[in-house]
Amino acid sequence: MTAEVITRFAPSPTGFLHIGGIRTALFSWLYARRHNGRFMLRIEDTDRARSTEAALEVILDGMAWLGLAHDGDGSGNMAGMDDKGIVYQSRRMQVYQDAIRKLLERERAYHCFCSREELEAMRKEAMSRGEKPRYNGTCRERGRQPAAGETPVVRFKNPIDGDVIIDDLIQGPVVIGNRELDDLIIARSDGSPTYNLTVVVDDAAMGVTHVIRGDDHLNNTPRQINIFDALGYDAPTYAHIPLILDPDGKKLSKRHGAASVLDYRDQGYLPEALLNYLVRLGWSHGDQEIFSAAEMIELFDIGQVNKAAAALNPDKLAWLNQHYLREGRAERIACLLKTTLVRLGVDVSGPPDLKEVAGIQKERVKTITEMAGQSRFLYEEFAEYDQTAAKKHLRPVVFEALQQVREALAGLDAWEREAIHAAVNAVAEQQAMKFGKIAQPLRVAVTGSAVSPSIDITLELLGRDRTLARLGRALELIQRRVDARAMDS
Ligand code: GLU
Repeated sequence: MTAEVITRFAPSPTGFLHIGGIRTALFSWLYARRHNGRFMLRIEDTDRARSTEAALEVILDGMAWLGLAHDGDGSGNMAGMDDKGIVYQSRRMQVYQDAIRKLLERERAYHCFCSREELEAMRKEAMSRGEKPRYNGTCRERGRQPAAGETPVVRFKNPIDGDVIIDDLIQGPVVIGNRELDDLIIARSDGSPTYNLTVVVDDAAMGVTHVIRGDDHLNNTPRQINIFDALGYDAPTYAHIPLILDPDGKKLSKRHGAASVLDYRDQGYLPEALLNYLVRLGWSHGDQEIFSAAEMIELFDIGQVNKAAAALNPDKLAWLNQHYLREGRAERIACLLKTTLVRLGVDVSGPPDLKEVAGIQKERVKTITEMAGQSRFLYEEFAEYDQTAAKKHLRPVVFEALQQVREALAGLDAWEREAIHAAVNAVAEQQAMKFGKIAQPLRVAVTGSAVSPSIDITLELLGRDRTLARLGRALELIQRRVDARAMDS
């Protein structure tokens, strides 16, 4: 029997979880799900000054929104794990202290008393020889113990000879000579542990078998493998994912990656669209574009992730979102539409039924936000006409036709799309105008803009009273234009 696969996502709550971070989480989650393993969440919050509650909330809410559920450790009693199965590094200080002590006892670590000035001199000397600045090992063989009141740092005794080989699932074999690695600090002079130590202690304690993370960590990996070895553990298998770049192939900026993953939710994207988009950033399966979560789990293969960085493609995300909006059940889309409209301060209590609106609009728009923008007119009066649309369509030439349409609509027995269509059509025929030449001014008159569902559906949704009132308002506007013209001539 092969061992259970355990992956983890280990964000630091020092900045908002962005699209790159969430893709790392997705790949780790998929790998665990695909292999019937466990996916764990560890919050790397040892930097108390820079960690924030708000950043933690984005991590937890973002993962919940996307359905990336984490698992516990099986035993439920790991130090620093909360009742939801999340491991917090800030609650594991004792465990790190024990590991540091163990390394000191095994002489795989040592106290370093070098002063800032000495380290600076070392740095300069190395640079003058054209070498990389590194610790020269002054305290390494001294074995000196701190006297009372002394607060030295602790350095890891990195092996001097040999190579570290990372058999990376994405990058292939990466070989680093130990000569390249100096003795890194594992405990600061205040006793606090540093990143490379805590990661190793935790990955070992959590039984992590596969570390999937951004390739910005690749240079930490050989150091971590050496620490695993010194602590007497087998190192996990690694997969370093290439970065995500902005659409121009440059480093991701807030403008493109969105400051936080929740911005995508607030901009009206569906979680399944974002997941589908993210899985395709750097991974493909033939020319398939659409993947349900179940399909991703079945097909995702970390070994096939591209070595080259992937660039964001906002059009692709919009296309996927449109696809999932169309596929989505009207009840669910209505619920999202409602939340968005309410956030915009729109009272959605009146008719039309949101489900009906959502059912129609979801075929036409790319995001929920766009849907909300194009549905507001159904629930509140619009303050102003879209200037360009009004200028182009609410002109004296359509005055008579619109007036006739208003009369015909006022006299309809039933307020239904077929009857509405027939009424508008009859006026068009009588005026020898194309249907669209009347429908578009009509649309601008009742919606304030040039975009809405087909005119009969738009009017049906809006209801007779409001349609007639808005047509009246538009006719007054046109009349004012007619009058102004008469004065000019
Ligand atoms: N906490 C690290 C980060 O947010 C990740 C550490 C890891 O995955 O090993 O970049």
